[in-house]
Amino acid sequence: MNHTQRAKQQKANLDKLDKILANLPEAQYDHSAEEIPEKKPAKSVKKQPAAKKQPAKKESAKNVSAEEKKGWSWNRKKRGRPTAASKNPPLRIIPLGGLGEIGKNITAYEYENEIIIVDCGMAFPDEEMLGIDLVIPDFTYLEENKDKIKGLFITHGHEDHIGAVPYLLQKLNIPVYATRFSMALIENKLAEKNLLANAKLNVVKPGDIVAAGIMSVEFIYVNHSIPDSCALAIHTPAGVVIQTGDFKIDFTPIRGGIIDLARFGELGSKGVLALLSDSTNAERPGSTPSERTVGESIDVIFKNAADKRIIVATFSSNVHRVQMVIDSAVKYGRKVAVSGRSMEQVVAKALELGYLEAPAGTVIPVDSVNRMSESEVCIITTGSQGEPMSALTRMSTGDHKKVNLTCRDLVIISAYPIPGNEKDVDKVVNELMKIGCEVVYERYSQIHVSGHACQDEQKLMLALTKPQYFIPVHGEYKHLKKHSDLAFQMGMHDENVMIPQLGRVIELSVNGISAEETVTAGAVLVDGLGVGDVGNVVLRDRKHLGEDGIMVVSVTLSNKGKILAGPDILSRGFVYVKDSEKLIADTKKVVEGAVRSGISENKRDWQNLKLKIRDAAGSYLYTATQRSPMILPIINEISEDDFDLDEDDYI
Ligand SMILES: [Zn+2]
Ligand SMILES: [Zn+2]
Repeated sequence: MNHTQRAKQQKANLDKLDKILANLPEAQYDHSAEEIPEKKPAKSVKKQPAAKKQPAKKESAKNVSAEEKKGWSWNRKKRGRPTAASKNPPLRIIPLGGLGEIGKNITAYEYENEIIIVDCGMAFPDEEMLGIDLVIPDFTYLEENKDKIKGLFITHGHEDHIGAVPYLLQKLNIPVYATRFSMALIENKLAEKNLLANAKLNVVKPGDIVAAGIMSVEFIYVNHSIPDSCALAIHTPAGVVIQTGDFKIDFTPIRGGIIDLARFGELGSKGVLALLSDSTNAERPGSTPSERTVGESIDVIFKNAADKRIIVATFSSNVHRVQMVIDSAVKYGRKVAVSGRSMEQVVAKALELGYLEAPAGTVIPVDSVNRMSESEVCIITTGSQGEPMSALTRMSTGDHKKVNLTCRDLVIISAYPIPGNEKDVDKVVNELMKIGCEVVYERYSQIHVSGHACQDEQKLMLALTKPQYFIPVHGEYKHLKKHSDLAFQMGMHDENVMIPQLGRVIELSVNGISAEETVTAGAVLVDGLGVGDVGNVVLRDRKHLGEDGIMVVSVTLSNKGKILAGPDILSRGFVYVKDSEKLIADTKKVVEGAVRSGISENKRDWQNLKLKIRDAAGSYLYTATQRSPMILPIINEISEDDFDLDEDDYI
């Protein structure tokens, strides 16, 4: 869509929005700088007219600096429960994920009896979560309030925003609204879980406004590292809330256009109740460079590659990056092969939908690369994070079926390692260098830029939207804190900034903001087909097993307390049994002693006997080895009536 078409579309949408808003009770914004007296209840506060009707000269000089008088500045509101003074009930914002962490973003907006959900992402497990495949948000609150839910609105197609959509739709088949590219990725996920046929999917365009009950959601185009990203303006009777989603400001984007700053400004001048903004890069000063700078660096590398084959590893969803690689390949007469499951899927989909463009015959099957000379080929692959099973990792260890790397290969890793992945990436780089590949990685020659706003862009977003309340989101606590510091630097008052917490319901209206109630929120672990069946106890056991191994001690007893067989010992991950015969034999003796004394104390109390076995074997093994394997006693009981036993067999 070109600029004029978009403007026309936007005009039509705004007319539609006016109609929607005409039916909503109006929120009254107070952009004056008047301070509310400390103890005066919010109820009795006299409302000031909106800023545009209230020129700066009327503002109290006591509270407004000369500088502030020239332009716009934040008003001060005492924080307190907003319900009392509101003509309309407050809006409830319920963060169910994405706070104090990177990943599993999900936020619910609740107004009276209606809920809309924004994003539904997954997170990767941390190293404590042994064997866990992925982490999804806890949907308890949404399940409990399922009749209120009007829809799920998606900002963009990254895993931390859509990864848990199939898990939510499995429980609640609600309508989903997303832009074309985000929806294509969601469709792939749903198809894998056989959920596609019944899903209620609605494709929207940037600029669209979707009515969802009493609230309506406007999609506003933003720049990010995946096509079709949007911020959402949520129009509610309590006011307009803007959730930026992930964004950056790119004045020279590859495709799709520049972030719609004008619309943010327009909403800001009409009055924005709250801004929930991306905090990922809140520690970084300045601005994130344009994606185009990466293209320039890639082009230089292609130009100087001479006869070498070029392999580029990047995120499959960064379609614009892939486009720049294709463009350079075409320019320097190379064909492009694609390797790695997600890269193949996304490139095929993006070509089909027109998000990627390549002259016919440019993209070739990866099988044919070995028949071509190095200077004719470029391979785009997954594995920029050193993922153990990825195509690049397999190439680096010689395990890739179709691509065999040599010293005539030049590998570009066009990504920063996500925190936690540094060691894996280093390992791949080392392996590639051992083969003799030339490797271009990390901060070298601008081969990667972030998809998130740095401080100056975050400040611009605040300045344009001029929110009454600011709620930093999408980040660890330090990011949220730094982001709130930016708002303070810009003159926002402490009372108007709230660092949100997982599960803590934020209630807000023009008269106040508070967060008192807590709802169920947290992480649900997914392991294979099991969702939520692995909890803390299982994880603790896995950790124990991983650290010291396991020893199974089994003994067969008669119902009258006679040892019929055993004790037998089986161990895994503890010691190599063949080299530790004495240790095992001694352990058997210790266990036998514990069984005999246990039985003579209290016949047939098998639970107590198991404890005795565990204690005796545990303390013996610790003394002998300084290790504490998990000890699993198994007692088989056989009735003596089934056996013909001599008196001598009794203990
Ligand atoms: Zn993102
Ligand atoms: Zn994100």
